[in-house]
Amino acid sequence: MLNRRTFLKTSAASLPLAAAIQTFNPATISADPIAGAAISGTDPKLIPLPARLAPVDPSTLPWQQNIRRVGQSNMTEHDPAVMNIEEWADYWHSAGADIVFISVTGILAFYPSKVQFHRHGKFLNGRDFFGECVAAARKRGMRVVARMSPDLNWGDALDAHPEWAMRDANGSVLLSPEDSRLFRTCMFTSYMDGYVPAIMREINSLYDVDCFYTNGWPPIGSLPNCHCAICSKLPPSNTTAYWRAFDDRILELWHKYDAIAKEKKPDSFYFANLGGNVRCGPNLDRLGRTAVWFQADNQGRTSDDPAVWGCSLQGRVCSAMMDGKFAANVSAAYSTGTVRWRNASKNPAEARMWLNETLASGMALYYHFIGSEAGFGEDRRWQKLGSDYFQWAKKHDAHLTPRRSLANIGVVMGQSTQLLYPTPVAAHAHDYMRETTQGIYATLLNGRFAFDFVHEDRLDLERISKYRALLLPNIAMLSDRQCQQIRDYVSSGGSIMASFETGLYDENLQRREEFALSDLLGISKAGDVIGTNGNAYYGRIERSHPILDGFSNTNWLPGAQNRVPVKSVPDPVLTVVPGFVQYPPELAYPPASHTDEPAVVLRDVGSSRLAYFPGDIERTFWLTGHGDLLRLLHNTIRWITQDEAVVHVDGDGFLELFAWETAPGYAIHLLNYTNPNAHHGWLSTVNPLGPQTVCMTLPSGVKVNAVDLLRSDRTTPFRLEGSVLRFTIPRVDDYEIAAVTVG
Ligand SMILES: [Zn+2]
Repeated sequence: MLNRRTFLKTSAASLPLAAAIQTFNPATISADPIAGAAISGTDPKLIPLPARLAPVDPSTLPWQQNIRRVGQSNMTEHDPAVMNIEEWADYWHSAGADIVFISVTGILAFYPSKVQFHRHGKFLNGRDFFGECVAAARKRGMRVVARMSPDLNWGDALDAHPEWAMRDANGSVLLSPEDSRLFRTCMFTSYMDGYVPAIMREINSLYDVDCFYTNGWPPIGSLPNCHCAICSKLPPSNTTAYWRAFDDRILELWHKYDAIAKEKKPDSFYFANLGGNVRCGPNLDRLGRTAVWFQADNQGRTSDDPAVWGCSLQGRVCSAMMDGKFAANVSAAYSTGTVRWRNASKNPAEARMWLNETLASGMALYYHFIGSEAGFGEDRRWQKLGSDYFQWAKKHDAHLTPRRSLANIGVVMGQSTQLLYPTPVAAHAHDYMRETTQGIYATLLNGRFAFDFVHEDRLDLERISKYRALLLPNIAMLSDRQCQQIRDYVSSGGSIMASFETGLYDENLQRREEFALSDLLGISKAGDVIGTNGNAYYGRIERSHPILDGFSNTNWLPGAQNRVPVKSVPDPVLTVVPGFVQYPPELAYPPASHTDEPAVVLRDVGSSRLAYFPGDIERTFWLTGHGDLLRLLHNTIRWITQDEAVVHVDGDGFLELFAWETAPGYAIHLLNYTNPNAHHGWLSTVNPLGPQTVCMTLPSGVKVNAVDLLRSDRTTPFRLEGSVLRFTIPRVDDYEIAAVTVG
């Protein structure tokens, strides 16, 4: 991000004289506000950080809360024949792993299981491979996760239990798309009630494991669509009623498995595979109240979800639901993607950034590779990267373990909208809500705002009153209760930025005739969604306003791809110039160049400020990258927050910011995404950033002992004037953490 001040500063320092003179020409600057595409204006007003949390003795926490590094060599059927167990255990131990995953499975037994249909791997030969691995880990002081896979089984099980299979609408068994010898098991059947518990109890009777985990279930990012005898009696998939039945079943099984885990040891527990960030399958609010380990299966970038911040986005979701309980993100050292090589290392810069994002967003490190051919891997390049990273992080556990996020903006996640919203007919976009999420995320990163996610089922005032503003990027589904919580939040002084169809559906996906927040936002629906056929609509500037700062020399700004027409409001700031033909150019002019339909509705009520965009502006920014939309969103966020911030980081470059309170003090994490591959492909290089100046106001009476830069392993000078702390991070390679130790 270049703000105008830094732009002038850096230009003067680094450009040749003629270019610098050109830069200082006010006409040049005002004529080119699009290229800057960033925040303009003065520094934000720093709000003092909240009083520090009372100290907690880590030894009083559940054991998993003190896990910081997780290791997994995901075991294949062939591993009992080729894996060197001592080498495997030595690697994870010397890397500093606190816990390792060892495969029990459910598809193939890695021990001499007596459970019927728990087929022994063909290289097992009666050997207790699982037991040997558990012993090797235990000998080195590492804890053990017993890893199971309940999602698939073999033909003999299907012959005996045809009712265990998922079925399509024709009644045909759903098979593994990659190996048709395996059928897909249905989560509503006795397979999950009988077969899975039998394996868990067998493991508990034979071994000393710390907890149980199931891979491959529940599904990530979508809901199952099964037509077996049981599921045929459930509501249709992709309905709110089905989603509730799905959640009920997950929690029923989760509690059942958790109780079985605890039959042997009361501090044992069960957890399942999760992920999918805001589009997680199970309801995150309900699950967050149950789970004590969030397994974020968000292993790497793919070509259809290409933004570099995929891991930290997941971390923000975990923070929103876990309230400080344990979360780990599975970072694949292998080559993830639409085309993948599960047994080959990926670009080191990309693997490292995923680990960076894991730590920055508050999760525990988790490093993962598949298969141990030829001892401990045909491709061994991933090993040094992981052990170097783990060993570095181990030196700084106290600073890298967050206690509380420091953010003054809450972004409503809208999980039900993410899963169930039908999207506007005009858009025809499969990834509509993902694009919306990426649009608001990129906007906030570009502006270096400190923000958290907030789940729609967690809008109680106690939780959200810490935020100066709530953002609702097309949160289409909102219940009456959630809307009342938003009203209460505004009554208490909070601000809102909402867009497009926010509140036009209830929690059962029933469409409302009027916006549920029409009273609050001062809007009234005037028709159905209007899409784009040719030129998208424009916003005509009607008068000056802080949300228009930095725009000059134009009467029009871009609107968005789709909009809900709303009734006119007094004294509008932007009005809609409806879309029109873009080809042929002969017809590319507006039949109606002036209307009274608002393109934004702004309200100013006490200390609350409310902004509503009728267009899908966040998503349109993601689709186009248009700097005017970015500036408009930045200005609006600054206006509704009254330009308040909890931490200000000034400098060049595109980065993601996290600020945490920690036990020793505070940690400011900067992830450097200034990279040609930030939006596609994998990172292969690091483009270092220059100085970043950090400024924050500490609670009164808090003194600072030191500011240490953990990646570059140096200290940096600081100034504490009153309660205002200032320091400069001279350089950011791919990642830097400024660890503030307070006294
Ligand atoms: Zn079924």
